[in-house]
Parts: sequence; C-alpha cells; structure tokens
Amino acid sequence: MEPIENKGENTAPSGSKQLEMLITSIVEVTKQRERFALEDCFSRIISRLTDAETLTIYHLQRKDDETFVVPVLHLVDGVNVSTRNANIKPFFLSGNKPLADILHKPLVTGVSVTVVEAGKEMILPLQGAKGEVSAFCKIENSRDDASNQRVLPLLLEFYTNFLSLIEDNERDALTGLLNRKTFDGRISKILTTLQTQHQRAADNSSKINFCLATLDIDHFKHVNDTFGHIYGDEVLLLFANLIKKTFRDDDLLFRFGGEEFVVLLANTDTALAHLALERFRSAVESHTFPQVGQITVSIGVAVISPDEMPRITIDRADQALYFAKQNGRNQVRVYEELVEQGLLKEQDIKTGDIELF
Ligand code: GH3
Ligand code: MG
Ligand code: MG
Repeated sequence: MEPIENKGENTAPSGSKQLEMLITSIVEVTKQRERFALEDCFSRIISRLTDAETLTIYHLQRKDDETFVVPVLHLVDGVNVSTRNANIKPFFLSGNKPLADILHKPLVTGVSVTVVEAGKEMILPLQGAKGEVSAFCKIENSRDDASNQRVLPLLLEFYTNFLSLIEDNERDALTGLLNRKTFDGRISKILTTLQTQHQRAADNSSKINFCLATLDIDHFKHVNDTFGHIYGDEVLLLFANLIKKTFRDDDLLFRFGGEEFVVLLANTDTALAHLALERFRSAVESHTFPQVGQITVSIGVAVISPDEMPRITIDRADQALYFAKQNGRNQVRVYEELVEQGLLKEQDIKTGDIELF
C-alpha cells in the first residue's frame, strides 16, 4: 500500500494524482476474494482518499427484533488499531435514532453518503448482496472537499457490486447458504479469535466457545425416489430457509453438499447448542413440506477447540451424527455428552487416522 498522501496538509490531490489513486484502488479491490479482506482493503482506500483521522467499520447484526452495531475494524491515520484498544464498543441501533435514520435512507434512495458535519463526520452505509444495509463506515476528521463528495458514492457502488460478486461465489446456488469452499476460511478466522480469547481469559469461565453441528436429512433418497428430484430440491430450499430462520445472525450456516449441512454456533456451550439444535429439529419435524409432507433430520454436535484441526471437530460431530442415525434418527446427539455417558469412545486421533486437507 502506498504511503498516505498529503497527510496533515488538508489539500486535495491534483486531478491526475487522484485518477492514479483511484485506478490503483480499483486494482487493489479486484485482487480481493473474501468479504473481510475486501472490507479491509476498501477501508484503507477510503481512509487514504479522504485523509481521514479515524475510520471505523461497523457490522449490523440482527438479533430477534433488535439490531446490534458491532465495530469490526478501526483505522487511525490509515493504520489498523484494534477496536478493543481504541475502546470502541458495540451498541444497540435503537439507542441512536439519527444513525438509524441515516442507515435506513439507502433502502429508499439507493447508494448514499451522509455528511453529518462537514469535515467532522461522514457515514457511508455498506450494502450487502441483497441490497440490505449490512454494515457502515464512519469517517472522522477527513478532508472536506467537493470532489470526494462525488467520488465516494461511486466507490461505494463499486464496492457493493464487487461484494455481491464475492458473496455469489461464497454461496450455494440452490439455498443461498455458504458453500463448502468457504468453510476453511471461516473456521480459521474463528480459531484465531478463540486462540486470542483463550490466551486472554484468566479463568475458564470467561472463555468463549463455538460448537460445530453436522445436519443430515433422514431418508432423503426416499424423497427423491418417491417425488422426483425437483421436489427434492424444493425440500432442500425450504429446509435451508428453516435453518436461516432458526439460527442467529452470528452463526455461520453452510450447505456442505447434497442433503448435508453444517452450522457453526457462535458463543455457545454444548448445553445451549443442544437446545438450539433441538429447537431446529423439532421445527423440521413439525413443518409440512408441499407434496412431500413431513421429513426429519439427524444432528451431531461437537465443541470447537482452538488447538485442534477443524477436520477433527467435523469428525467428532460426524461420529455423533452417525450415532443418531444408528439409534432411530430424528435426534440431536452431542459428541462430548456421548463420550461422558460411555456411549462413544474418545478416539486417539493420530495423523494418518483421519483425512487431512
Ligand atoms: P440417511 O437417513 O441415512 O441419511 O438416508 P439418506 O437417504 O438421506 O442418505 P443417502 O446418503 O443414502 O442419500 C442422500 C440422497 O441425497 C442421495 C441423492 O439422491 C440425494 N441428493 C444429493 N444431492 C442432491 C441435490 O442437490 N438435490 C436433490 N434433489 N437430491 C440430492
Ligand atoms: Mg447424507
Ligand atoms: Mg441423509
């Protein structure tokens, strides 16, 4: 990345310099293949272009009827500073009505930049692939110049288009859930978070946990054989919609292939994961699928350990799933509980016993 131009001078770069900066920015953006990397790259570009003192990216997470505003990235003079060190905290959007109004505006008027106070504060809503505002960028103490006011909305539109390209690539075409290809990237990000958190936590009680669940529709071959592939696909789509409806915004939902799905449950111990998955199992059982009627699902769960390879966690969840299939299907089984109850033997997993990727 180029050093920041004009720092402290508060003057706009010349026309040709600005054009060069923009083309360099476009080249940088088009190198990105993942949402977080794109966000990081975009923030640096905007920070450099506007000569911002600080720039913060916030994600909007919907939980029940509330929207939670979570800071994810903070730049001071173009340099990344952790939001924790900068003491920037999450908050509920309902507690900040002017901000809620600004974020609602793009849904009505299209891409927009709101100057809250010239030179002091700007808000750039960031739209997701479906046109919803899923994040925003707050810029403080930037250069107040007219050409930026014209360029920023265009850059924002470019960002939104590129994000939707990346998101399309990350998602399964039938269900819109994340695809198998994105799993490794997402879980390594979780493992890094867990490792940092676990190192920081003085005692076990403040450690956060994630659980991994593998879900497999019961006797799905029978659905295809009886009603045909098209109805089978319809069941998969409706099943995925039930997954989206049941789990929280910060849980990650994948279609691993065929009628197999994976859910990464955030900030959850096994007891809470068991409850959430049981709620989902019961929702599937009581749902009437057009033409097909009732279907059921078997679910295996395991705790994600920051020190182990993801393949090991998947293998444990799969063992619990296999146990569920062998013991009547239509049930949730937790690996750690099965081991504790003596129903599964904890295996010594050595390199060579498992498929390494
Ligand atoms: P079990 O309860 O043991 O899981 O039985 P099952 O019939 O669900 O499992 P099995 O693995 O034998 O069959 C899975 C079936 O899923 C086989 C295949 O026809 C179907 N399938 C896989 N991918 C797709 C898809 O994309 N669309 C449709 N309609 N069917 C699919
Ligand atoms: Mg299967
Ligand atoms: Mg199945």
